[in-house]
Amino acid sequence: MSDKKKVIILGGGLAGLAAAIILVEREFHVTIIERKPFLGGRASSFPIISDNATQKNVLTENSQSSLKDHRDKGLFIDNCQHILLNCCTNLLDFYRRIGVEKYIRFADHYLFQNFQGNKGVIKGSRLPAPFHLLPSFLRFKCLSWKDRLTVIYGFFCMFFEQSNLNRLDQVTMLNWLRTHGQSVQAIEVFWRTFLVSALNEDLEKASAKYGVRVCIEGLLKNSNAFQMGLPIVPLEKLYTQPCLKFLRERGAEIRLRSKVNRIEIIDSKVSGIKLNDGTEMVADYYLSSLPPEALLSVFDEDTVNESRYLSKLRQFHFSPIISIYLWFDKPVTDLTYLAVSERKVQWIFNKTKKNHNSNSDNHLSVVISASREFLSLQKADILKIVLKDLNKILPAVQGSQLLNSIVVKEPFATFSCCVGCDQIRLEQKSPLSNLSIAGDWTNTGWPPTMESAVRSSYCCAELILEAEGRSESLLKPDLPPNGISRWLL
Ligand SMILES: Cc1cc2nc3c(=O)[nH]c(=O)nc-3n(C[C@H](O)[C@H](O)[C@H](O)COP(=O)(O)OP(=O)(O)OC[C@H]3O[C@@H](n4cnc5c(N)ncnc54)[C@H](O)[C@@H]3O)c2cc1C
Repeated sequence: MSDKKKVIILGGGLAGLAAAIILVEREFHVTIIERKPFLGGRASSFPIISDNATQKNVLTENSQSSLKDHRDKGLFIDNCQHILLNCCTNLLDFYRRIGVEKYIRFADHYLFQNFQGNKGVIKGSRLPAPFHLLPSFLRFKCLSWKDRLTVIYGFFCMFFEQSNLNRLDQVTMLNWLRTHGQSVQAIEVFWRTFLVSALNEDLEKASAKYGVRVCIEGLLKNSNAFQMGLPIVPLEKLYTQPCLKFLRERGAEIRLRSKVNRIEIIDSKVSGIKLNDGTEMVADYYLSSLPPEALLSVFDEDTVNESRYLSKLRQFHFSPIISIYLWFDKPVTDLTYLAVSERKVQWIFNKTKKNHNSNSDNHLSVVISASREFLSLQKADILKIVLKDLNKILPAVQGSQLLNSIVVKEPFATFSCCVGCDQIRLEQKSPLSNLSIAGDWTNTGWPPTMESAVRSSYCCAELILEAEGRSESLLKPDLPPNGISRWLL
């Protein structure tokens, strides 16, 4: 019998998979328990089929056979376009470990378009950080001269908030921007467009700590940090299938369609877990990567009431993201992506073959973050609103026919990183000695992103190694400041 220490990982999303990879690399016996029939959680892909009756693409049920069939044909779309920045050091480390970094293509500029149709490009220059983006902001055609200078002043102020970030958790991003001289135009055209998608929260609610941090880490500190990484394959090919292969080859057990129903506790330690089919499982360590509401439901009520730590799980709020996939009869744009300000549509990604190895031509993906106002709408009504915007943003849409569309609503896309959220984000170290808690919503200092998910799982793996007397530093440091930022930060 193997003398490897056993770890049960609850949940097979990105955090669960990243933890599993690190732990099997270190000779632990890992079992992943995942409720759904596929891995990846909120960063996953759906198979699509063409409905013969309507000739439209539709989402299929994720049954194992349909998954396999579609995997062979490569007909997958993601639950939403997932992007990263080059400052996501832990996420990139995870991709490197499973050998898929080659599937991320970095773009060296952001293209914005304002309501009037003016385009502005943010891109690097030869100037050292933090001035590398300055020439492009000075030329940023979406804003007047005065508003460009206002935005530059905003960045200048952010730079000096570095030592104050925790205090900013009590301030909304909108208030911070207003008290730092930002005009209505600067806010609506630049800050809202950039930050709502980065934080998945409205500026009126978002914690300024996270907004300022994203700007410092992503735009100011290091001249390479701002580069935007776009996967050129669906998430399923990017990381869930490679993880499955990596883990199975190393003896890990992956139980799909298995729901954790209960965590049993004896003497401040997890004594075992119970699955929905009645199976009881025991391990040396337990690592939860469940979302807050799912984690809450696996403890009995008294346990939660008696624990200050666990009762925080009751306070989480969520923010939705809506993703709209569109297939037209002819090309509607040459752009790879576009950030749109002052409209309902926020980001447009061109998914045609030449850009994304996708199977279909003339294919766009539209993303609307923090989209609460859309949640109660029918999908057909959302589509109408999006097409109305697209007609204005991309004139070629007017002369083309929409062949197919899929609207994906994710009501619980991420937790709301609103003012004060630091009070409720759980530390990875739980009061139960053999249980650690991962997930993008735990306390990582990052907004709810893939980077946060991977960071949390690396922290949990460090805790397990420490308990084994094999302490190892797994968490990758942030990108270091370069250029003049080295002296300023
Ligand atoms: C629409 C959308 C767009 C996004 N865009 C971006 C982006 O562009 N860039 C970015 O960095 N991030 C983005 N994110 C956020 C990113 O997807 C998440 O931060 C990340 O996937 C979270 O991973 P996780 O493992 O922490 O959680 P999850 O993915 O939620 O994983 C939890 C897993 O636990 C499983 N589970 C739940 N209950 C049980 C149970 N009782 N028993 C067993 N299993 C259970 C779930 O099925 C799930 O697989 C986006 C998210 C969404 C929804």
